[in-house]
Amino acid sequence: MAPDRRRARQAALVAALEADALDGLLVSSRANIRYLTGFSGSSALVAVTRADVLLVTDFRYAEQARAESSAVARVEVESTSIWDRFFKELATLGPLDSLGFEAQSLSVHDAQRFTEAGKAWRWKPTTELVERLRAAKDAGEVAAIRGAASLAGEALRQTLGRVRPGMSELAIAGALECALRRLGSEGHPFATIVASGPRSALPHAHTSGRVVAAGEWLLLDFGAQVDGYCADITRTVVVGARASERQRVLYELVHDAQQRARRGVRAGMSGRDADALARDPIAARGFGEAFGHSLGHGVGLEVHEAPRLSKINVDPLPAGAVVTIEPGVYLAGEGGVRIEDDVYLASDGRAAELLSDGLTDLVELM
Ligand code: ZN
Ligand code: ZN
Repeated sequence: MAPDRRRARQAALVAALEADALDGLLVSSRANIRYLTGFSGSSALVAVTRADVLLVTDFRYAEQARAESSAVARVEVESTSIWDRFFKELATLGPLDSLGFEAQSLSVHDAQRFTEAGKAWRWKPTTELVERLRAAKDAGEVAAIRGAASLAGEALRQTLGRVRPGMSELAIAGALECALRRLGSEGHPFATIVASGPRSALPHAHTSGRVVAAGEWLLLDFGAQVDGYCADITRTVVVGARASERQRVLYELVHDAQQRARRGVRAGMSGRDADALARDPIAARGFGEAFGHSLGHGVGLEVHEAPRLSKINVDPLPAGAVVTIEPGVYLAGEGGVRIEDDVYLASDGRAAELLSDGLTDLVELM
């Protein structure tokens, strides 16, 4: 069993708060609450200060919150308003002046509470204080993502063995989701994408009732979740026939770019330089316009998190990050190819470690 890192994470957050001259932080993001306290429910407010960690949840989660978090937080259960209770308990944490809140995870409506029930404190918006800590994964987190990725690979293998021309995208997605659950995925971290034929050119297609015909592309983008941690995988295959020459050319273009990025990406490299590893060869062959999204994103408790592998991220990729490598080429009316794997960026500039199966040679389902 991996060592419990929650106290160390809370201490790292307190150090970040001190650097920003804050006495504490109201944590409202579900993923951040889980990272700091282990609480996996959907309703809680957490305060982290130098001396205390307070978690207020509602009646539905009383037992769960105590089991998951009482070792590292003072758990309070409220049956009426967790906000009112939160402010009441906050007042017992000693003299606190300046407190941060997570600007990206509060509604305007919630923020109004600071000028009403919370007016005893000075509130300052913060961005990504906990997210920055989450970007570098520890061994237990990497193991969970590796477990999710391996389960996703097995679910895909089982599903592709049953795919035939004449099946609908929804039927294929149903088989895939069933296999994911059967193999132990806690949930689907995002809506499964199964897109066939010309619909594969929609990078984030909704899975539809369209029936797959022989010789068409089939793109599957899906996730799995283990201990709260996500994997995110995409494969594109040809159904019921050998690939056409045109399909082979498009596939090899994306495949070569994906391999180049997967092997070349390093911690310390900027997000922009990482993105260029795949973008440059695609652009050099005239398909730059058809690769309209960024190369990848961090993955962890959330399926999209820091860091971004994109043209606009000039910051270095942190050592310990787990990121996706997912170039794609999309041609309207014709179809698209995307190939996505998850990799761990070790420290010391070592080569990225593959967490998903990396089985990306062109598959023709006959
Ligand atoms: Zn994906
Ligand atoms: Zn992705």
